[in-house]
Amino acid sequence: MSEASTEDPTRAGWSFDHSYARLPQAFHARVNPTPVREPRLVIFNPTLAISLGLDPEALRGDEAAAVFAGNRLPEGADPIAQAYAGHQFGHLTRLGDGRAILLGEQQTPDGRRYDIQLKGPGRTPYSRGGDGRAALGPMLREYLISEAMHALGIPTTRSLAVVTTGEPVFREEPLPGAILTRVAASHIRVGTFVYFAALGDIEGLQRLTGYTLQRHFPDRVGSGNPARALLESVLERQASLVAAWQCVGFVHGVMNTDNMALSGETIDYGPCAFIDAYDPEAVFSSIDHQGRYAFGNQPQIVGWNLARFAEALLPVLHADPKQGVALAQEVIAGYPERFRSHWLTGMRSKLGLFTTEPEDDTLIGDLLDHQRAERADFTNTFRELDPLAPADASMADWYGRWTSRLARQSQSPEEVTRLMHSRNPRIIPRNHRVGEALEAAVRKSDLAPFQHLLAALASPYVETRDSARYTEPPPPGSAPCRTFCGT
Ligand code: AMP
Ligand code: MG
Repeated sequence: MSEASTEDPTRAGWSFDHSYARLPQAFHARVNPTPVREPRLVIFNPTLAISLGLDPEALRGDEAAAVFAGNRLPEGADPIAQAYAGHQFGHLTRLGDGRAILLGEQQTPDGRRYDIQLKGPGRTPYSRGGDGRAALGPMLREYLISEAMHALGIPTTRSLAVVTTGEPVFREEPLPGAILTRVAASHIRVGTFVYFAALGDIEGLQRLTGYTLQRHFPDRVGSGNPARALLESVLERQASLVAAWQCVGFVHGVMNTDNMALSGETIDYGPCAFIDAYDPEAVFSSIDHQGRYAFGNQPQIVGWNLARFAEALLPVLHADPKQGVALAQEVIAGYPERFRSHWLTGMRSKLGLFTTEPEDDTLIGDLLDHQRAERADFTNTFRELDPLAPADASMADWYGRWTSRLARQSQSPEEVTRLMHSRNPRIIPRNHRVGEALEAAVRKSDLAPFQHLLAALASPYVETRDSARYTEPPPPGSAPCRTFCGT
């Protein structure tokens, strides 16, 4: 941390609008963060601050911790908690921001708009039995992995800061309390639509449809049926997002409909994890007993969530329910193909393929089957693929097919390598390294391993002398990683 700035962190370039707070009462509840005892800045993201039009110098010191803790509101804030519902492991529940408060929508100098949300700022009208608080470990985890996803080039919410509160939170044991400042294109979820559908509030649905289209898909405003345009646009973004997850081995862990942002950003880094060995059945979350959200199920779950989204939209898709259903089915039927197309494009790039051939599908599938049989490390296998290096005996046949395939396109070996190295990361947030870094931060107040890992993850495609430490899979025989929702 640099020396405390004399500048006022409540006037550090904040430029809030409140378009969501202007929506009718049913959408949200006005609520202020509950002040905490002793805010301390743990980590701050100056690069993100700058891109938001904020002055990082004014946001570094302990004065700023008061802002990121909700003790002092930035100029122009109008805090609300948002209403939503969600299918949790398939079951519909009424939720809402039980431990999150939106301060406002930051308008950036280049004309973008981002929600600035505190996660863990105290109770809201939607807290149900919860304390509205968050623990340091899970908030640092979200900071680390969301920033890693961003560096990988995958759409995601971002993390601006984490502060400790000076107050314990009580989970299985007392833990240091913390608050994350999350930055998102918006927090509108499938569950937001589900909420109004469940209430039978068609006017609310109409309002939300228009609002979401305007906010995330302005090109589609005025193009015929708004609900259909929204469904198509969201489907496309979700297909692209989950394909990107599958290409880097990311397991979200809790793909409930309330954790699926319509912006197409990855959101809610609770029990997520990256796979080491390739395994479509990989599950890390301690509460996902049935493997509903297993790695290989994710594309299908996105399809299921999109079907719930379409269902919620029915009353606004068409005044005649039968025609509404027909419209919804027609759009949703396109999902498997859209996913597959994004996935194939991603996988082709990982293999250095610039052109398309019908056999590519089999080529990719056979490599994955091989990885599965050998329990080979997903990330390292792709990164170490080299058409010029001799193949391992067990892969000789596959290598032969792959190199012949490469020979049937005109790109040079250098171009192939460049493409592959830009799509096959060297460094991902491996569970055992994330675990070590969080353990040191939480138990020993030693942030060095966290900072070091965070720095490495900022350039995941670059080979550095430092990176070796983060490229090794966990030692054989180590206990499988278990993740928790952090609630
Ligand atoms: P999540 O599993 O983090 O997506 O959270 C699911 C729901 O539980 C959301 O409505 C959260 O706001 C709510 N929730 C999670 N943790 C807490 C907490 N500690 N206090 C109040 N509400 C919470
Ligand atoms: Mg959530």
